[in-house]
Amino acid sequence: MWNHEIKIPERIAGCAGEITVNDFCIGGGEFAWIAGPCAVESAEMFCDNVSKLKSAGVKLFRCGLFKPRSSPDSFQGLRKDGIGFIAGIKKEFGITLVSEALDRESLQLLLPVADIIQIGSRNALNYELLKDAGRSGKPVLLKRGFSITVAEWLGAADYLAASGCREIIFCERGIRTVTEISRFTLDVAVIAWLRQNVPSPVIVDPSHAAGCCSLVPPLLMAGAAAGAQGALIEVNEQAKCANCDAGQQLSVQKFTELKQHLEKGCR
Ligand code: PEP
Ligand code: MN
Repeated sequence: MWNHEIKIPERIAGCAGEITVNDFCIGGGEFAWIAGPCAVESAEMFCDNVSKLKSAGVKLFRCGLFKPRSSPDSFQGLRKDGIGFIAGIKKEFGITLVSEALDRESLQLLLPVADIIQIGSRNALNYELLKDAGRSGKPVLLKRGFSITVAEWLGAADYLAASGCREIIFCERGIRTVTEISRFTLDVAVIAWLRQNVPSPVIVDPSHAAGCCSLVPPLLMAGAAAGAQGALIEVNEQAKCANCDAGQQLSVQKFTELKQHLEKGCR
């Protein structure tokens, strides 16, 4: 089946093209930078990153409190323990937070602090979670499952829409292929195809596709050239001692250079 045969669900065709959250409109023309560490590891490290990234012009922040990890022995995120101080940091800096819900319980815990609910790659086909997220009243950033088809991704988005959510952000983050040079293969074509076929904003996550810092800038630029209207990108001043995804998180300086490069129109 080729792309022209994929049917866009009616509810997806009726979704919002512009999603305004606090002081920023995603899909409104300005490139949406959603930056921050892979995981929030302490109040101090999050504050440090937020204050530096805010100075670099970032308004939307990654805020990973619940982390889906490949090993049960790996750091699982601060979870409930992070919710209290996150609310304070959010108020202090006046920022917008994007945070991943893993299940109904984490979704409920996140609702008071997260402005946008992220559904991660591993949960892209978790239909019960999609129904809950769709009913939450918040915009949902829906990542592509790393082994799912475009039709399945659209079906996942339709679960959100059927539960009342019309503010959906599609995020391409790479799929599993035979390549061994990057963590996943960024499907640049799907970014272009979605821009041509759905009204919803489409963004790129170059960090999880790349798996290493040096590949993040070219993948970001490729995604933007294909039409991505924003990027979910890992930036962490304390990357060297990070508990997860240490090798793919940019320093604030590298991120700032990349941001300026893209905003100068070097796509
Ligand atoms: C993330 O963005 O924090 C994440 C876990 O990414 P993914 O779901 O794409 O693996
Ligand atoms: Mn990560």
